[in-house]
Amino acid sequence: MTTAIKGSTVAAMRDVVRVPNYIGGEFVAPASGRYIDNICPSTGEWMGEIPDSDDRDVDAAVQAAEKAFPAWSRTLASERSRLLLKIADLIEQNFEMLAYFESLDSGKPISLAKRLDIPRAMANFRFFATAILHQASEAYMTDAAALNYTLRRPLGVAGLISPWNLPLYLLTWKIAPAIAVGNTCVAKPSELTPITAKMLSKIVADAGLPPGVVNIVHGAGPKAGAALAAHPNVPVISFTGGTATGAKVAAAAAPRFKKISLELGGKNPNVIFADADVEQAIPTSIQSSFANQGEICLCGSRIFVERSIYKQFVERFVEATKRLRVGDPLEESTDVGALISEAHLKKVLGYIDLARSEGGTIVTGGHRIDRSGYFVEPTVITGLTCDCRVLQEEIFGPVVTITPFDSEEEAISFTNSTRYGLSASVWTRDLQRAHRVAAAIDSGTVWINCWLLRDLRVPFGGMKESGVGREGGVDSLRFFTEEKNVCVKL
Ligand code: NAD
Repeated sequence: MTTAIKGSTVAAMRDVVRVPNYIGGEFVAPASGRYIDNICPSTGEWMGEIPDSDDRDVDAAVQAAEKAFPAWSRTLASERSRLLLKIADLIEQNFEMLAYFESLDSGKPISLAKRLDIPRAMANFRFFATAILHQASEAYMTDAAALNYTLRRPLGVAGLISPWNLPLYLLTWKIAPAIAVGNTCVAKPSELTPITAKMLSKIVADAGLPPGVVNIVHGAGPKAGAALAAHPNVPVISFTGGTATGAKVAAAAAPRFKKISLELGGKNPNVIFADADVEQAIPTSIQSSFANQGEICLCGSRIFVERSIYKQFVERFVEATKRLRVGDPLEESTDVGALISEAHLKKVLGYIDLARSEGGTIVTGGHRIDRSGYFVEPTVITGLTCDCRVLQEEIFGPVVTITPFDSEEEAISFTNSTRYGLSASVWTRDLQRAHRVAAAIDSGTVWINCWLLRDLRVPFGGMKESGVGREGGVDSLRFFTEEKNVCVKL
């Protein structure tokens, strides 16, 4: 399949890339009849179109989900589990095609889609399909007077809004737990990366999931996304995206007291102490800076290095950066692909200009690559302090700053100097220091001597303006259910 698609031109794909909405088990056009262009990041060319859905489409999807809810919420956990495992199997069977289109649609290297995105989409369904078979509920004895026990029930229609950087990975991270515990859902994928969501709707149908359990409405955030966040019959919203959008979603959800989870932006630190294993720290920091063109919320965009090894670290880091192969995302050997859009390219280049005007030194990179599509050189900046905007604001591109520090206290104060608190990496061989620094960093995840090592059971989320709530494992199962205490007098 991959080879056949590779040989075709973008123009020849016009026939197959008019994405429909998926509502009540049917593939349908938007009520408005209007579509939004889908542009290929690595060529800048038109590649297809997606529904410009509005509140009418969202409402139809919510109605379909409401209709499906009573039967689905009563379906035995073993049967829900079986269907989710079937979805995972079908993702596995379509692995190559999904990886190909994820790369084409988002600009990410196909090797990353194969290593991270599609395996994780499968794992999300398998993880929650089996998790629901092992749940327990709490019971509390009130002396000899009463027995309390907790019932957990699904909430109804879950609204799921996801971004473009890890399209199928994050969409399935929300759909799988939501439906595993008996909710039905309306998902709104990013308008910039609709293709694997479209493929997932076909997979869900082929797996035999009852119509209306999963509905996918495509469209622009301020229209379709906003309509979903505000819909009166959607009591729970799981949102992943930018912090500014998260604030709008929270404002739309607040008047109806919706249950809400917000996974937002980051400006993650990567702290390298002088005693670190530099042979490990450098290649991993290259990954954490430039994987997916720096477009992962968990990328470490601020590197802090203890002064005694700073010079040597910068030299070796820059050498390794220069060795990265930037190019066609569909080539297996590509390390860094294209940015998602022209607007995002301009934003990233704007921050590189800002770094220059703030007095930074561009040690390597700093330019757009002279070819069609939205490519930026992996860029390393030194000479800026923590109060510069370049170290305060999320750039979300292949741009990293390196700053020296003189003490553990200073390293901690540098890491905590932004309004974000999503993740951090700390590199040291001193075990006590590792625990001490991890405890002092304000972020939802701290990795010691590693990065992006994810266990789906652990709580995932951000502190400060990086988010509200936690997802993953038990946290997701709890988020998508509501508790009720039953007190029985003995
Ligand atoms: P975005 O906020 O622009 O869009 C995210 C989603 O929200 C899209 O589906 C979009 O259509 C929708 N949307 C936009 N406006 C809306 C509105 N008014 N109401 C409801 N929905 C609306 O984010 P993006 O540019 O797609 O993604 C990049 C951002 O996501 C970065 O800030 C990144 O850090 C963040 N992110 C966070 C995590 C995490 O787990 N914390 C993971 C991935 C990405």
